[in-house]
Amino acid sequence: MLRKINEMHLYVTSHCNMGCLYCSDSTKRAKLTGNQFMKIETAKKFVDLIFSNSKQGYIDVVFHGGEPTLQTLEWYQLLIDHIEHQASNYNIEVKLAMQSNCMAISNEYMDLFKKRKITVGASMDGPPDIHNLTRGKGEEVLANILRLQEVNRLGGVICVITDCNCDEISTILQFFENMGLFSISFNIFYSVGNGNQLPPLSAQKIFDTYRMTYEYMKATAGKKVIERSVSIMLSKYVKPLTKEENLKNLNCYSPFCHAGILNIICDTDGNLFPCGCSDYPKFKLGSIYSLDRDHYLKTLRVLHEKHDNYSQNCNNCFANSICSFSCPAFREEDPVTEKHLCEATKMFYRFLETEPPEVVAEIAVASNVKHGRKDN
Ligand code: SF4
Ligand code: SF4
Repeated sequence: MLRKINEMHLYVTSHCNMGCLYCSDSTKRAKLTGNQFMKIETAKKFVDLIFSNSKQGYIDVVFHGGEPTLQTLEWYQLLIDHIEHQASNYNIEVKLAMQSNCMAISNEYMDLFKKRKITVGASMDGPPDIHNLTRGKGEEVLANILRLQEVNRLGGVICVITDCNCDEISTILQFFENMGLFSISFNIFYSVGNGNQLPPLSAQKIFDTYRMTYEYMKATAGKKVIERSVSIMLSKYVKPLTKEENLKNLNCYSPFCHAGILNIICDTDGNLFPCGCSDYPKFKLGSIYSLDRDHYLKTLRVLHEKHDNYSQNCNNCFANSICSFSCPAFREEDPVTEKHLCEATKMFYRFLETEPPEVVAEIAVASNVKHGRKDN
């Protein structure tokens, strides 16, 4: 059951130094976990479990939280030594990454990123004044993102689109362009966890986000900021994926996502979950100490099971080639966003049909996003 895993996430700590308005972690993992920091023995055991079972030639190891820069530097040094040792034992190529809020990155941490070649994904919801509506410390975050960019350790920037910033899409894209930050993901907000203080986005607002992002990429011929979700839709619109290509490239944008199949996460106590958003108790796959195949597969079936709408509507839907089918982990807590994403996807498909095909194709090629993975 772990043979296909090529991406493993470690919840290094459940602590965080920010208090984002829409954080869902505080309502999920914090209740579940006893240890606030992952012990080095737990992390090593998780690495051993995955490296000894995965049959893939490469594994992405991602440090997550809470805020992973709150863990000690010594902890990372010990763990990365261990990862490198096991990578060589099992002949696996490893890429190290971290997802950080970038609020406080010490010089010592910057040295760690450079020395150990850790790529850091950042989170920023637009220019500081807009970012501060949902997250906070915008100026500090921006300065740290630019420091990462300067030393070539920045992966990309996740920008969550909520009711607070969805009317500022052009401003946000222009800001990222001005800052030289060209690799951006607009994550459509789900009203889950603490985030249920904010309303779900309407279908019209989601569609407007897609359309304005498209308009920006059209105006810049796909040569400046590349937004991931729209680029993937354009690429699939121009060349729909075959069933085989979809199965080979499972991710959050495919009809069935990669959670628990290619991707797995371990929390501070050693509990295993399919992905960072499905870390609800009901989706617990087991732990690093005890894994039962039947339970694992049964839990994945519950997570990935499509409701009746899928067989009744999606199979024959005109927009299904570009659809990301929304996140199954949040379906129960926020069914409204799923419905709105569906409507917005159809609106966007109809909109693309009115655009000159050669223009859509040109942006799709220029943005160079294929099958949901950004080509290197
Ligand atoms: S747009 Fe809606 S109906 Fe069409 S494939 Fe996506 S989720 Fe299904
Ligand atoms: S459950 Fe949601 S967040 Fe997790 S991998 Fe699937 S689509 Fe992505």
